[in-house]
Amino acid sequence: MKTIDTNIITNEVKRLCIEAANIIDKKVLCSIKNAMKIEQGLSKNILAQIIENDEIASNENVPMCQDTGITVVFVEIGNEVFINGSLEDAINKGVSLGYTEGYLRKSVVKSPLNRVNTKDNTPAIIHIKHTLGDKLKITICPKGAGSENMSRVKMLVPADGIKGIKNFVKETVSLAGGRACPPLVVGVGIGGNLEKSALLAKEALLRNIDDEAIDLDANKLEKELLAEINSLNIGPMGLGGKTTALAVKVNIYPCHIASLPVAVNLQCHASRHKVVIL
Ligand code: SF4
Repeated sequence: MKTIDTNIITNEVKRLCIEAANIIDKKVLCSIKNAMKIEQGLSKNILAQIIENDEIASNENVPMCQDTGITVVFVEIGNEVFINGSLEDAINKGVSLGYTEGYLRKSVVKSPLNRVNTKDNTPAIIHIKHTLGDKLKITICPKGAGSENMSRVKMLVPADGIKGIKNFVKETVSLAGGRACPPLVVGVGIGGNLEKSALLAKEALLRNIDDEAIDLDANKLEKELLAEINSLNIGPMGLGGKTTALAVKVNIYPCHIASLPVAVNLQCHASRHKVVIL
């Protein structure tokens, strides 16, 4: 059994919150630079500004966007890990320290009805998965409201098929337009049930921007959807162009014979997630 002190978890979560907000993922930046090569005029100019913004943020250790998001935390905890206290409290303490000491915008309200700010960006949204082994993996994913608000779930029926899935995904991207701050990473969750499909879509966003679905059908769908989304001419920040999405990630799961749940979780160009394995 490996014991992990809650103070270590808190300090790592604090560090990851600040790094996720300030330091752009190298592969995401590379993908935006590649997109610039196929754009011209205004769309090229917008991508150049996004790249400059991200490089300044990384170099000066300041947030790449004013919306530093609500903190989504994915935890994988092995059966040989013992934590000497509350895991959720340790994570929330880390989020609180990260957002206050890192001068990140506090974007969480205590109640969706009274709208009073909690002033330290807590509580985080925490998903815990139990695994085998002696490792604790923590992934921090700050999610801005611009792209999250444009995300959707729909309970299709099996007769809608691939065509229905594609239409729903493209309709979601079209309705979002510039409001989700494209170029996007489009997370698509297919299967499970209502809540499982949403979780699949969110987890799809955690994948590296250059990885491809192992499942052959999902892999084909990713490629086809990316091409079709990029032919919508929404473009960087919704002002036209070839690059509406940098990537489409499709995660699938078994579902009921009479169901076809589909969730689309949009991620803006500030595609932020950081991981630590303890
Ligand atoms: S959608 Fe993304 S880039 Fe746009 S304001 Fe929100 S966090 Fe920032």
